[in-house]
Amino acid sequence: MSKPLDSFAYSNGTMSADGVSLEQIAAQVGTPAYVYSASAFLKPIEELQKGLAGLDHLVCFAVKSNSNLAILKLLHQAGAGMDLVSGGELFRAKAAGVASSKIVFSGVGKTEAEMESALLSEGGGIFSFNVESVPELEQLDAVARRLGKQAPVALRFNPDVDAKTHPYISTGLKKNKFGMDRKEILKVVKRLAQLSGISLRGISIHIGSQLLSLSPLNDAFGRAALLAAEIEKSTGKPLTFLDLGGGIGITYRNEKSPEISKYCAMIQKHFGKKSKLKARYKILIEPGRTVAGNSGVLLTEVLFRKERAQKDFIIVDAAMNDLLRPSLYGSYHEIVPVEKAATRGKKKKADIVGPVCETGDCLAHDRQMPTGVGKGDLLAILSAGAYGFSMSGNYNSRPRPAEVLVENGVIRVIRRRETLEDLIRGESP
Ligand SMILES: *Cc1c(COP(=O)(O)O)cnc(C)c1O
Repeated sequence: MSKPLDSFAYSNGTMSADGVSLEQIAAQVGTPAYVYSASAFLKPIEELQKGLAGLDHLVCFAVKSNSNLAILKLLHQAGAGMDLVSGGELFRAKAAGVASSKIVFSGVGKTEAEMESALLSEGGGIFSFNVESVPELEQLDAVARRLGKQAPVALRFNPDVDAKTHPYISTGLKKNKFGMDRKEILKVVKRLAQLSGISLRGISIHIGSQLLSLSPLNDAFGRAALLAAEIEKSTGKPLTFLDLGGGIGITYRNEKSPEISKYCAMIQKHFGKKSKLKARYKILIEPGRTVAGNSGVLLTEVLFRKERAQKDFIIVDAAMNDLLRPSLYGSYHEIVPVEKAATRGKKKKADIVGPVCETGDCLAHDRQMPTGVGKGDLLAILSAGAYGFSMSGNYNSRPRPAEVLVENGVIRVIRRRETLEDLIRGESP
């Protein structure tokens, strides 16, 4: 149940991260900048690990939500594994020092080269390929055999439950591109004897992101347990693990998001020591947003306030290339002045927009903003730790922002601001 201001509260009149003022950070590294709180990242990891105690488990952080090396290293040191969706993410995880045995590889379109690098990954290959289709399974089998290996596999089951989230981030419906349905899976497991490059170990699910209710997950867990039993009956061999995916929602505005303790209790109910299954499967989960979402803010400075009769435009130095979610999904991020004093006074409706030449470059619509907020003021765009920097780009030839990690009161630039030279690297005039 993480909330936007959990780790970025006002103290001494200015918003701070782990006791360091965002004003000081802006003065030191400039704006726009992503600012992360190390303690905020660690808290959900610890809660999840505690909630899964008694089960053989592995919390695999979904790297795509925030893939900075320093963040991966921090979480890895806290015992987390990693859930990847590309060879690039594998490269990052290895660079952050993550053991191959703690890596799972998801995604509908793995290339042969990606399969190869994961099979040959230093330290004995990865823990699991979460395979999403029959042709993918066949290709993985061929690649593994060519290398004289056996690929550890979980079949991704699409349980056809409605996650009741934004259509762009719903993944567990029959009509979505992800996973295989029960019939497809039961059919393909009959062919495993011919697929000697494949070692079937488990099944995986992931039904969507920003889930605000646990009940679709409850359904999906039940269906996954039934399917696991059916597979075992068909093959005569036990599965060893179930990967339950990620997707737990967070509070961006005033949504009531699920509590981690309740989520874990539900996993225990289905798969724990006191369940019918008596903790016989290792349980993996793949949280991204739950861990990263409210652990970072995007710090930006107001360039101009363009006054209009009905509604002002507050033009800031961050834009859709830095934080895509509002433009892509119409998603809501709380935006607040860094100076506590600036939050007071008369308010007027405003759109908070970036400099990019797109009408869609709007970070927030129709917000009541104090009329005193103007040029030079700092704003914090909250809940920007997940799918923030990792979705950023260079549209309009804008160098990407710096990323800063605050840990035990110490500021560390974990990715320097891109330079103009970075923008043209690799181009041949
Ligand atoms: C994106 C993704 C996740 C993480 O989802 P969150 O909603 O950020 O927790 C987990 N597993 C898979 C397979 C994914 O694609």
